[in-house]
Amino acid sequence: MKKNIETLCIHGGWRAGKGEPQQLPIYQSTTFRYETSDQMARLFDLEESGYFYTRLANPTNDAVARKIAALEGGVGAVLTSSGQTASFFAIINICQAGDHFITSNNIYGGTFNLFGVTLKKMGIECTFVDSDWDDERIEAEFLPNTKCFFGETISNPGGRIFDIERFADMAHRHGVPLIVDNTFATPVNCRPFEWGADIVTHSTTKYMDGHACQVGGCVVDSGNFDWEAQHDRFTCLTEPDESYHGLTYTTAFGKMAYTTKLVVQLMRDLGSIPAPQNSFLLNIGLETLALRMRQHCANATKVAEWLSNNDKVGWVSYAALPSDKDHALACKYLPDGTSGVIAFGLKGSREEAIRFMDNLDFISIVTHVADARTCVLHPASHTHRQLTDEQLKDAGISPDMIRLSVGIENVDDIIADLQQAMDKM
Ligand code: PLP
Repeated sequence: MKKNIETLCIHGGWRAGKGEPQQLPIYQSTTFRYETSDQMARLFDLEESGYFYTRLANPTNDAVARKIAALEGGVGAVLTSSGQTASFFAIINICQAGDHFITSNNIYGGTFNLFGVTLKKMGIECTFVDSDWDDERIEAEFLPNTKCFFGETISNPGGRIFDIERFADMAHRHGVPLIVDNTFATPVNCRPFEWGADIVTHSTTKYMDGHACQVGGCVVDSGNFDWEAQHDRFTCLTEPDESYHGLTYTTAFGKMAYTTKLVVQLMRDLGSIPAPQNSFLLNIGLETLALRMRQHCANATKVAEWLSNNDKVGWVSYAALPSDKDHALACKYLPDGTSGVIAFGLKGSREEAIRFMDNLDFISIVTHVADARTCVLHPASHTHRQLTDEQLKDAGISPDMIRLSVGIENVDDIIADLQQAMDKM
């Protein structure tokens, strides 16, 4: 039976059998027992599926991955120990030394660093493009060794909206998949596969958890990208893997080729699984995701309107506002709401922003974002402090930018706290 997103948030991934626990159990075990040596050997050869070691697969982790795959409309998903690992694995599953990929420059600072510095050290080159450039200028950046295109549905912290359909078409014209980080939108507000994206990543640390209790990530595969149609470009999937007795992922697993490789090769060799306990906590967060997203968006819209009408505020970036430059894209991709995250600047210097934040009462200064509790951060001093002024500009971050992550408290209290902090300026 086809289920709506609210129902999938509750029931996706786990269904108790007769006499089994209604709540997803925590399989806090590294390993799983077999009767004969041959039974286990067949699992190692991927001839049978089953659990044998939690670094590769664990029933609690798998149930939550299935739920996220169902929410996104994908064929498979893999949980990772953080959102950073999800971005890293999503790329290196199809890129190796000597390869190249393209990313929008409106992305989270940690991802910017991962792509521009760490992957570069591993021999993978990344070109940063501005999505405001025209198609011709961006398409000129595709090279024969380009393997994918990357962007964030709603960028952190700038709140820019990624034109998924435009970049999916562009990536496909050049024979590569589009990977979209859907962390801020969540599948409640946008499902990038419906617009042509091929792979979705998440920092599940954010809204999916929603209570700031676990760090995690997820890679979801739509199963739609035809790797065999680009056989020579993606030999990592279309030719035998010598570390798996010459098995070819596309032949053996079809639409599950990308997901299977990520588990049996990357997880096998690099680890980075979440603890089953963390997946259990994530699952509790997911149960209320649809409800919470509605409240985050309703509160943030009121706060963004209030900020826009405030004399002390210089600018506000929140795509749900009709005055926002990305409003048309928000209406197309996120008609039910964007997220709770607003970027704004006060009139005055960078120091004014810091003084304002220090004046806040229950709204906390934290590195975190997308939490039930309202919180703030100054990207230039915190998350993006490794970036040069030039890179900050390229990433759309001004020195006065405050990132306000609107929670699900009573909106009048949130506005009252912002008001009293401004009154003290
Ligand atoms: N992607 C986005 C959009 C993020 O905002 C973050 C973290 O803030 C990440 C990825 C990295 O996730 P994590 O902190 O779970 O490693």
